[in-house]
Amino acid sequence: MTSLICPNCGSEHIRIKNIARKTGGAIGTVAGGASGIAGAMSGARLGFLVGVTAGPVGAFAGSLAGAALGGIFGAAVGCEVGVTVGGMVDDHLLENYACITCGHSFGRNEAMEPGAMGQAVLNVAHASAPESPKSNATKR
Ligand SMILES: [Zn+2]
Repeated sequence: MTSLICPNCGSEHIRIKNIARKTGGAIGTVAGGASGIAGAMSGARLGFLVGVTAGPVGAFAGSLAGAALGGIFGAAVGCEVGVTVGGMVDDHLLENYACITCGHSFGRNEAMEPGAMGQAVLNVAHASAPESPKSNATKR
């Protein structure tokens, strides 16, 4: 990936921890899968409407396909949001890089020029926009 240099000793042997990124991805997948249930319900409904033109079998198959797609989509979106948010935590809040040579831990801002923060915030805002748990909860 990127070649970083230890700000302490100048070594290029840098280890990336990505703790929050991995954790965020896992949490996001679970949370997205859960919120994907709502997507699965509407997906099943849509699949039913599409499939019903092909008869009862089509309606059943359409419901299954719609539910599966909705669940997968929710998990994928959740994972992406979790990785994005986790990556921000890694890059800006944690000391995400560790020097193998001297053991010094340092954040991205020390090793590289900052500036990706605004873009990352935009990405998160964009990615989380389609998910609105409150509107789902109030919907009947
Ligand atoms: Zn070092």
